[in-house]
Amino acid sequence: MSDRDGFIWLDGEMVDWRDAKTHVLTHTLHYGMGVFEGVRAYEAEQGTSIFRLEAHTDRLFNSAKIMNMPMPYSKEELNEAQRAAVRDNDLKSAYIRPMVFYGSEGMGLRADNLKTHVMVAAWEWGAYMGEENLQKGIKIATSSFTRHHVNVTMTKAKSNGAYMNSMLALQEAVSHGCDEALLLDTEGYVSEGSGENFFMVKDGIIFTPELTSALDGITRKTIMQLAKEAGYEVREKRITRDEVYIADEAFFTGTAAEVTPIRELDNRPIGQGSRGPVTELLQAKYFDVVHGRSQQHLDWLTTVV
Ligand code: PMP
Repeated sequence: MSDRDGFIWLDGEMVDWRDAKTHVLTHTLHYGMGVFEGVRAYEAEQGTSIFRLEAHTDRLFNSAKIMNMPMPYSKEELNEAQRAAVRDNDLKSAYIRPMVFYGSEGMGLRADNLKTHVMVAAWEWGAYMGEENLQKGIKIATSSFTRHHVNVTMTKAKSNGAYMNSMLALQEAVSHGCDEALLLDTEGYVSEGSGENFFMVKDGIIFTPELTSALDGITRKTIMQLAKEAGYEVREKRITRDEVYIADEAFFTGTAAEVTPIRELDNRPIGQGSRGPVTELLQAKYFDVVHGRSQQHLDWLTTVV
């Protein structure tokens, strides 16, 4: 991945992709204290556009605040850096990765003598779970790994170190022949996927877990709004794994995963064992919005040129 043509925004400048390097004593590499975002740009009616850029940048700043990391740039500068990362790499659609990390000035855990660095990269990336799975749905398993507790790493920040937990859960699920993991919280209720928020549909009502231990997903917020606009009731509540077994439909949401139907949990088919009608409708609405085909939410799109 490091060996390719293109540009990466690093500490205020566009540098050649291959030169965007950091030292082995980079503090974040050792202890995982850093924050990042995952953002997407789509080929939209009005030209390549970043979806909900401000919301992602706001969450990045909130993540940094939670982790007590000083931010050396303004939101406007980072919004511009993300547009430039797509534009300067000539990308029509892209996954954008801003990341805030500590430098190599020291190794102490006090982190009181460190510089904060910021990078933004962008590259072409298709459907995270594969094009086919957006239609047929994925097979998932309840994880033996528990989602972070609010007083362990906290869960409102999208922090680098938190993703060890995601990777352990995902690798376990894949090794059991599944596509993704469903993580429970420390009390045993459904929390989220390794990189997605969770939704289920029962008797025409859409349910999603409260945000106590799940990330406050921007796609989650988007889908909740689109569902309400389509006339659905959306309830945030504690969900148990057996409620999911007997749900009519289930799906994951995320910037990378978009709206991915879940066809099976723990070897039990959900509903008909395929993408359900509510999931299909919300998925279609989501793709209309991100591609600028819906007149209603054009303010969620920021063109890159
Ligand atoms: N939960 C986790 C753990 C994630 O990594 C992500 C991806 N950022 C999400 C949920 C979904 O968040 P969003 O819709 O903002 O991408």
